[in-house]
Amino acid sequence: MPGQLNFWPGEAGPAIRWSVTRGKRFRDCLRRYYYHHYASAKNKNHEAFVLKHLSNRYSWTGNAVHEALEYALKALRDGRVLGVDDVVNQATKRMRTQYLESVKKRYREKPGVAFGLFEHEFAENIAKETWAGCQIQAERCIRQAMDLPLWGLLRDLKPENWFAVETMRSFRLRAGSVIVKPDLAYRDPDGCVVLVDWKTGKPRPEDDRMQLGVYGLYAQQAGWGEPLVGVLAYLDNVLLDEQPVDVHVLETTKITIEQSMTHMRAVLRNGHAHEEDFPRTDDLRMCGMCSFKRICGRE
Ligand code: SF4
Repeated sequence: MPGQLNFWPGEAGPAIRWSVTRGKRFRDCLRRYYYHHYASAKNKNHEAFVLKHLSNRYSWTGNAVHEALEYALKALRDGRVLGVDDVVNQATKRMRTQYLESVKKRYREKPGVAFGLFEHEFAENIAKETWAGCQIQAERCIRQAMDLPLWGLLRDLKPENWFAVETMRSFRLRAGSVIVKPDLAYRDPDGCVVLVDWKTGKPRPEDDRMQLGVYGLYAQQAGWGEPLVGVLAYLDNVLLDEQPVDVHVLETTKITIEQSMTHMRAVLRNGHAHEEDFPRTDDLRMCGMCSFKRICGRE
């Protein structure tokens, strides 16, 4: 695995646009990483391109919550308070449209544009109640987010204290650029810069802390000020895990990203990716929900 690869020296090699998700994909299965970031390039491997854009019911639910909260928060930032029922209805409507698109397999005609679910592509036998449960979970998370005390605080926030709502940004490190999209960032009345990450699934401590560290590095480079406080908001359980994003966290995050980018470069030959250099994982549990299992031969 990456530990056995030669390090690529200094600044040499192709640009890597690193993100927490990309880093995790690289750790989980090199072959999946290859399909996602290289084979699926448009006009290269059409099937990989189609499969890359599939969601699954878990990510679909999470995205529905993120989009709904983005919609409500941007309205709030503009001085409009949306009712929770309106926000939930909007999200439900969108989920229904996406579900129908997926059932009809429109994503096969318009990959990357029309919405597609892994479960439909692979004809998984999912009970109606399970699908309904996705909408119920999304609704519960939206309602619980908009009921948090921080939502009340945001209503009174001055425009200059809003920093980001699902805003895609990037920043530079020595080994390449890092993509970041903070769910929410603002300055609270005590002067702290609060970095919020909405979570709809169970805690994954290592990745979740990493995400806050990446937000923190961006906040530092953007000059939002100090102190930085991260909030992991596990919406399904209404659990707020607040943690300082201090110098130690920032430094550790930076080192981890730099090492990850170095490993990503090292697996390329003269800047080019070759499938045989990206072995399949031995952990077969990874393959069950992997969209690439068909082209990988593990369907
Ligand atoms: S099916 Fe398994 S081995 Fe193949 S790409 Fe997916 S996770 Fe990797």
